Amino acid sequence: MLLTITTNPSIDVVYQTNFFKLGQTNREVSHYQVIGGKGINAGRVASILTGNKENVAAMGFVGRDNSAGIIQDLQEYGVVNKMIQVPGKTRFCYTIIDGKGQKTELNEVGQQISTEEANQLLEQISSLTNLNGVSINGSLAPNLPENFYSQVIRTVREKNPRAKIVLDTSGAALKSVLMGKDLPDYIKPNSEELSELLATDVVEEKNAVLSALMNPIFKNIPNVLVSMGAHGGVAKVGIETPRYYKIKISSQLAVNPEGSGDAMIGGILSALAYGKSNIDVIRAAMAAGMANAVEAKTGFVQKSTFNRFLRSDKDIHV
Ligand code: ADP
Repeated sequence: MLLTITTNPSIDVVYQTNFFKLGQTNREVSHYQVIGGKGINAGRVASILTGNKENVAAMGFVGRDNSAGIIQDLQEYGVVNKMIQVPGKTRFCYTIIDGKGQKTELNEVGQQISTEEANQLLEQISSLTNLNGVSINGSLAPNLPENFYSQVIRTVREKNPRAKIVLDTSGAALKSVLMGKDLPDYIKPNSEELSELLATDVVEEKNAVLSALMNPIFKNIPNVLVSMGAHGGVAKVGIETPRYYKIKISSQLAVNPEGSGDAMIGGILSALAYGKSNIDVIRAAMAAGMANAVEAKTGFVQKSTFNRFLRSDKDIHV
């Protein structure tokens, strides 16, 4: 069984405008709404890639007042819904894209999570004993302690010592885990998140990223995969004698690259479900990110496109 954990999902509303000016009344051309939790996206992709057969579960918190869309989305893709309903609304995140393609974002902070609700999630995680892959996705919901993801990792490992854990977060939540004792098996920062973590501007260029991965902060993480959008990525695999890989991908006409990072996590989870390791997991991550970028829907892949990329050394070269 695979599990994704999203403590602070969102419903994303994207507005297209001709012009957008601060301090003025602006009008939309069109808008659409998408389910935006990173773990919901990753779970959807993992489920598609493993056959939509209820072998992926989604845990975390949703605001009761508007949870129907999220729950319906999970059901549609055969993901087992284990989201805890909390009072109030799931947060909205707004994106405004103007006629020049410039993006402005406004993200609500999300529902406050009580200590009781946090403990309920940890208990729920403890009740699962058949996990082979777990992803912890996105920002921490307000009020959760900064080390909450360390507690989650510890809880997963108590009952599932062989489960591989993928952590996809940033900022203080990521730093807190990396400074602690309970480490994940995989992290997947993009180059911006890598720069933030190391508090230095890492140029989005493979040699610069590769040197950044030699930072001692990554020493005890078995797999670090830095995604670089259309430029592929760089990975570190191993602890005692780490190996470093530059990953080249073929150029694709991206339709909507939003959610490609989440799709990569779905790709990693699906590879873990099939018992893959090392390079095979990296290839699955890349193939899933690429397969997402060529779709209009955020956090969605076609299995046939994924397989085509995965099997071609021309499309993904590690
Ligand atoms: P994030 O969404 O976390 O910022 P990236 O933008 O780095 O992640 O994209 C994740 C992965 O998705 C990339 O490593 C690549 O495999 C794929 N991808 C993203 N954008 C493109 C693109 N324009 N063309 C092809 N693949 C892409």
